[in-house]
Amino acid sequence: MNKEKLCGLDIEEIFSLIEPHGYAHHHAVSIANGIYKKRVTEISLLGKIPGKLRDLLMELSDTGSFKPVCSESSGDGAVKYLFRNEIGLEYETVYLPDGKRRTVCISTQSGCRMGCSFCATGRYGFRGNLTAGEIVNQIVSLPDAGDITHVVFMGMGEPMDNLDNVLRACRIITSEWGLALSQRNVTVSTVGIKAGVERFLAESGCNLTLSLHSPFAEERMRLVPAEKANPVNEIICIMKDFPLLKKRRFSLAYVMIKDFNDTDRHLEALMILTLGSSIRVNLLPYHSSGEDVLISSSAERMQYFKHNLVVSGVSASVRKSRGNDISASCGLLAAGRSKGHKGKKSK
Ligand code: SF4
Repeated sequence: MNKEKLCGLDIEEIFSLIEPHGYAHHHAVSIANGIYKKRVTEISLLGKIPGKLRDLLMELSDTGSFKPVCSESSGDGAVKYLFRNEIGLEYETVYLPDGKRRTVCISTQSGCRMGCSFCATGRYGFRGNLTAGEIVNQIVSLPDAGDITHVVFMGMGEPMDNLDNVLRACRIITSEWGLALSQRNVTVSTVGIKAGVERFLAESGCNLTLSLHSPFAEERMRLVPAEKANPVNEIICIMKDFPLLKKRRFSLAYVMIKDFNDTDRHLEALMILTLGSSIRVNLLPYHSSGEDVLISSSAERMQYFKHNLVVSGVSASVRKSRGNDISASCGLLAAGRSKGHKGKKSK
């Protein structure tokens, strides 16, 4: 018999597993609490439930949680973890401590089929979707899981290409019975798949970041092939028209590439695109990988963009790069996969 994996189930699904055996809803709450908040790795360790229910759960289910197979630590405190699921799909997760803020960057797919030209994950190809349980497990199974304050869906994969599982994972991460993180501390990042963005905005209260990288369609298409079927102007209109609830944040990610997308013409177009909206612009350094000839804009140029956006009324920030020495920065996940991984085995 295939055992049900508890990590990935919502509270009503856990209840429907035990209700036919005479157990109450509060027992389901205790089980969810054990899996998502206490992060138990074995059913036998689940507390606050009758012994007979524990025996029943051991028969019907397993926790569905499993540890990363290895990790690499950066000199700046970032840690990259490699996970391998039971069918052998590999995917990476990055832990980013920064003072009181402790962020985990999670993957939604092993590889990705979007083929963005600057991205090592895109070059790795698409290997498969992750289940909601495998997405959530990247948080609950980390050694620092208890400390996590923020979650960003910016690891391997395009979240809108695995949306059912992403929405379910968002629900588990933000529900009181789940990890109980605030929706405003959870951000999903996309290259902009129109139908997916519309559904995500309607069905989730989490933040959304759109990877822009160029305000010009032809040029953006060279970086992000999804532009062809999903013009970014249309995605930005959807975001602008969506009634933004207090504290929910929409933003644009703009990776800055020297002499490619960092001219005054780009700056002006970026201002026009965002002016009058509450969409924030996050400027990021570009990370070269492989035989890439493109290089990042200078720190001065990035500050110049930020300054001009801010004085024109657009909210903007320059994001620092983390975990560059272990290929954990934006666009570099999976960069080492084809060469063989060099991380330390996790305990
Ligand atoms: S940037 Fe994101 S969407 Fe594009 S190939 Fe990489 S992982 Fe996929």
